[in-house]
Amino acid sequence: MKESRETRKRRLAAIIDRLEKAIPDAGSALDYTNPLQCLVATILSAQCTDARVNMVTPSLFKKYPTVRAFAEADRVELENEIRSTGFFRNKAKSIQSCCRELLDVHGGRVPDTMAELIALEGVGRKTANCVLANAYAQPAVMVDTHVIRLSGRMGLTRETNPDKIEIELKSLLPRERWTPASHLIIHHGRRTCTARKPGCDRCVISGLCPRIGI
Ligand code: SF4
Repeated sequence: MKESRETRKRRLAAIIDRLEKAIPDAGSALDYTNPLQCLVATILSAQCTDARVNMVTPSLFKKYPTVRAFAEADRVELENEIRSTGFFRNKAKSIQSCCRELLDVHGGRVPDTMAELIALEGVGRKTANCVLANAYAQPAVMVDTHVIRLSGRMGLTRETNPDKIEIELKSLLPRERWTPASHLIIHHGRRTCTARKPGCDRCVISGLCPRIGI
């Protein structure tokens, strides 16, 4: 039987309640101390683990402490600093173009609105939502590979497009739960509901997920 929207909302609320109890420390795993570092770390985290990014960023942020330092960096040197995060040429280009725009258009400041963030070269909605949530404490739904996979498995949406998943999840959750729910689903995807083999037999939301019957 098709689940009504109200039932799906209540089920998602129960899922987030359970995940909150199981993973009380869920939050961004990236290390950063200001919005610029948050933006750069998030760009580096594409197709890379947060742990790997955190190994690279201490020396990176020491070498390039400001927007101007990134904007004026020697491209090859910057690429070498971030090489181990993968796709380093594209990432270096994004970081540098982005920082040049920050200098030219925003007085060297990382903006705090979705419209301004996604106008920056190399910044999509996922990166923008991460910066809004993690650097500026604004409610945001971060749709990464884990959120895409789990939203489908948990029967929360039939959408596969990240932007549409974001809209759907926002409509199912109260604003104050957007950010914590994103972190919790991401952690659950990393720890239990992994891409290769979902751990349904040890899953805290069993009974609330269509995979094992609701
Ligand atoms: S029951 Fe299985 S598919 Fe559903 S969330 Fe848990 S691990 Fe993932």
